[in-house]
Amino acid sequence: MALIVQKFGGTSVGTVERIEQVAEKVKKFRERGDDIVVVVSAMSGETNRLIDLAKQICDQPVPRELDVMVSTGEQVTIALLAMALIKRGVPAVSYTGNQVRILTDSAHTKARILHIDGQRIQSDLKAGRVVVVAGFQGVDDKGNITTLGRGGSDTTGVALAAALKADECQIYTDVDGVYTTDPRVVAKAQRLEKITFEEMLEMASLGSKVLQIRSVEFAGKYNVPLRVLHSFQEGPGTLITLDEEESMEQPIISGIAFNRDEAKLTIRGVPDTPGIAFKILGPISAANIEVDMIVQNVAHDMTTDFTFTVHRNDYTNALKVLQNTANEMGAREVIGDTNIAKVSIVGVGMRSHAGVASRMFEALAKESINIQMISTSEIKVSVVIEEKYLELAVRALHTAFELDAPTARGE
Ligand code: ASP
Ligand code: MG
Repeated sequence: MALIVQKFGGTSVGTVERIEQVAEKVKKFRERGDDIVVVVSAMSGETNRLIDLAKQICDQPVPRELDVMVSTGEQVTIALLAMALIKRGVPAVSYTGNQVRILTDSAHTKARILHIDGQRIQSDLKAGRVVVVAGFQGVDDKGNITTLGRGGSDTTGVALAAALKADECQIYTDVDGVYTTDPRVVAKAQRLEKITFEEMLEMASLGSKVLQIRSVEFAGKYNVPLRVLHSFQEGPGTLITLDEEESMEQPIISGIAFNRDEAKLTIRGVPDTPGIAFKILGPISAANIEVDMIVQNVAHDMTTDFTFTVHRNDYTNALKVLQNTANEMGAREVIGDTNIAKVSIVGVGMRSHAGVASRMFEALAKESINIQMISTSEIKVSVVIEEKYLELAVRALHTAFELDAPTARGE
């Protein structure tokens, strides 16, 4: 008999009919004899609706009150699901985060889980009940309701699985797994059987929206096997684990991630002296702007160019800050560019294979795509290119790294 934590996202509990379907599914698992803890999100759109309501009162609602408000979305779905289970003769009980002591810090709207006391849940499981827990919410040591950041129910699921030492944490969603890349861009994208935590973390931080980043970090840290599955279609989904077995079939690249959310800034003709990177990026970070990729060119005439990327939302702000710095330093000019995109190849297989980056560059060269910036890590190579070539680049790389499915889905 296994203990499984099953998390259902907003679209999976978006209507009463769907909640009934989820109840049917949970019932089937229960009948196999497994112990089940279910974590649910709010009905899709509900959290946004609540935030909009608050914003009608004021632009920046007090975070504590916002948490009191947005946590209600999940309180509705836990009760509905418990009712649907009980109606089917499956003993069930629903709990808010507070009731099962999901203890967090006090950072409202982005709280971190500190501790979960699994006792109450364990005794319900022993008594044969399915336990339905509200995702996304917790409570701080003073009894204030907190929330874990958008998409936080994934983290609730993983944290509960870790605390209860569950055999698996299953994340049910509206896709049937993690894909080699976005199937809307590459028709031949394939569902991955398996991916490592590390790879998934890179994919998530590079823009794949299947799982909340923090939940993947958490799962990796506590080694909780995670499986992404479709809520209403049968299938094995994608397993995310620590396991990095050196099999012959291990592909070099597991996936291709991309995003259009970045913008590039260049400051030209800055003196090539110690401390220059700090002088340029210090004010940027003081303005709370996160920098992603950085390139500093080698100087020839005692001056150099310095380029970095930021989130597109921060672009205007960053440009202003950089212009100020440029004036102070007497730099030649500042140039900004929002027509860029980042494409990354991700795979633990890179560790044991040489020439992965050059294979990437070759594939892009064949399509005459100019690379503007490059960055690498142990399991990732990212390039910045002109945005209009993004889809072409992703398709070319998908083919070059032999990720294409034998036939496109639906053919
Ligand atoms: N309901 C929350 C949100 O929409 C948490 C979640 O769905 O995971 O962000
Ligand atoms: Mg989600």
